[in-house]
Amino acid sequence: MGNLLIGKNSAVIGFTMFFLAILSLVVGLLAAQFCFDKQEVFFGILSIATTLVWVIIVLMLFKMVMNGVRLKEYLLPIIGFNYIINHSTKQIHRLKNKKSDCLIEQMINKKYGTKLYVSFLLKYKKYDGCRHCYIEKDKSQL
Ligand SMILES: [Zn+2]
Repeated sequence: MGNLLIGKNSAVIGFTMFFLAILSLVVGLLAAQFCFDKQEVFFGILSIATTLVWVIIVLMLFKMVMNGVRLKEYLLPIIGFNYIINHSTKQIHRLKNKKSDCLIEQMINKKYGTKLYVSFLLKYKKYDGCRHCYIEKDKSQL
């Protein structure tokens, strides 16, 4: 059952996205109606098309949240936040390579970081790469 994975937050996010999808659909169709009333067929069709694309995107994200995908973990890497930093253990995990052994779900004090920030922590703050997903920076292996 995928439902068991839904946390309190994802239920809120899911509901918000569902609401957003419905709202977009209504506004988009009203805009299209308005364009058709003014004989602007091209813009009418454009409104319908962009509305549908947007609704599909929102519904896909909604489905991902409902399937237990953490959007933060999925979207942050796209804008360059490829690492999870556990400030309690001073360990750095690489999202692209994460393993179940990393126990990322159980971390309390975790933050997302960029490559630049991570190299700063490794160099000056005595942080360490995770031995499961970031072996090349795991100093305890040397
Ligand atoms: Zn790891």
